[in-house]
Amino acid sequence: MLSNRDIFAEHLSHMVKFPTVSHVDENQMDFEPFYQFHEYLEKTYPLVHKTFEKQVIGRAALLYRWRAKESGERLPVLLAAHQDVVPEGDYGRWKYPPYQGVIADHRVYGRGALDCKSMIMGQFEALEALIAEGYEPKQDIYLAYGYNEEVGTTTECPSARLICEHLKAQGVRLGLVIDEGGEIVSGSTAGVKGLLGNIAVAEKGFASMEVYKTGKAGHLAMPGHNCVMADLARVLVKIADYPRPYRVTAPMAMQYKLLAESVDEYKTYYENIDSHMDWLIPRLEADPRTGAKFQTTLAMTMASGSPSTSSLPERVSVSMNLRLLEGDTVEGILKDFRELAGEESGVKIELTAGRNPSPASEIDMGLFARFQEALDQIYPDIQVVPVICIGGTDAFYYHPICDRVYRFSGGRRHPDNGPSHGYNEAYSLETIGDIPQFFYHFLRQF
Ligand SMILES: [Zn+2]
Repeated sequence: MLSNRDIFAEHLSHMVKFPTVSHVDENQMDFEPFYQFHEYLEKTYPLVHKTFEKQVIGRAALLYRWRAKESGERLPVLLAAHQDVVPEGDYGRWKYPPYQGVIADHRVYGRGALDCKSMIMGQFEALEALIAEGYEPKQDIYLAYGYNEEVGTTTECPSARLICEHLKAQGVRLGLVIDEGGEIVSGSTAGVKGLLGNIAVAEKGFASMEVYKTGKAGHLAMPGHNCVMADLARVLVKIADYPRPYRVTAPMAMQYKLLAESVDEYKTYYENIDSHMDWLIPRLEADPRTGAKFQTTLAMTMASGSPSTSSLPERVSVSMNLRLLEGDTVEGILKDFRELAGEESGVKIELTAGRNPSPASEIDMGLFARFQEALDQIYPDIQVVPVICIGGTDAFYYHPICDRVYRFSGGRRHPDNGPSHGYNEAYSLETIGDIPQFFYHFLRQF
């Protein structure tokens, strides 16, 4: 049986002590904490290390494989997560130091406590317990932990891609990938009592852009007719007004259909949500978190102009980030924005980073039933539904070798869990057993 919460907390607290910070340029990363982290895993989970074959891919990615005695035609399952964390920022703003793994206020504090070492801890705890009980999988099980997920969309060498290429070269095709990205949430925003197990079956794309215009430096008393700031502003208004209508993608249509049985009101709307946009849209407008699952979003973030109030700017610019819904592409949006800007405005638009939306994975109801079965063991009142992930994950890289790439941590959203990339990241002791238990009950069915 699984060990208790104190053990999970102790192990997670130890894991955050390794400052496994990633950087877009691998050469600027300190890999020593990663190697120490590997040693810690080896020491803490001896049965996993005896049972699985372990390989290091690239500089520090971990790939483990448990060969099933008789897998027949059954395709392997791969559990993913990432070892790296984002930088801790200003030490002074942490209530407890980011790499000490302090357990206080019913939480484990530290960078990576939620994102994503809780998931590595949970997967290892589950497997260690299962092996101790004599469990034998009916197909191969892989564990895959990259080292640069947090910069995975901008680095030249995402380690998850290396893992995928390695598997592909060996002719491996996967039956299921489970990575971070979906979680257990309250059903209240969907109008449902109880909890929802949100399994993300696709993720949005993204595009970071800079919109800018160069001007002539000079004294503000003699500006002439040029005002590059206003030229930029005119283009920004057009971009802000660019239509990004709400749309219902297949996973969200399926989610509402599945929830139709569980709601008291609007059942007929839920059954066919895309025919009831008039009802849906005001609700999405009022709830940006849900709205983001139905729309390509646009956020303008950073503006710059002259460094002083008394000189004309040589260059004005605004940075923006878009999150693309299935059906939109980076290339298409960039082309449209450049057309909106027009040659004559002199305003230029550069793409600084971008990735198209992932393909949508097959929604396999048989597999969904297994997720349901596992979660039923932990929560009395939970319903599993598909969703789309609004952030980027390492799961993106596995689509070429798998039709069922699902994003689900097994963890429950809790006010004390997080903030993922912010100060005082923590994991609540109240929910610390969720991830180990989920993987334990889930894997037992394989
Ligand atoms: Zn993460």
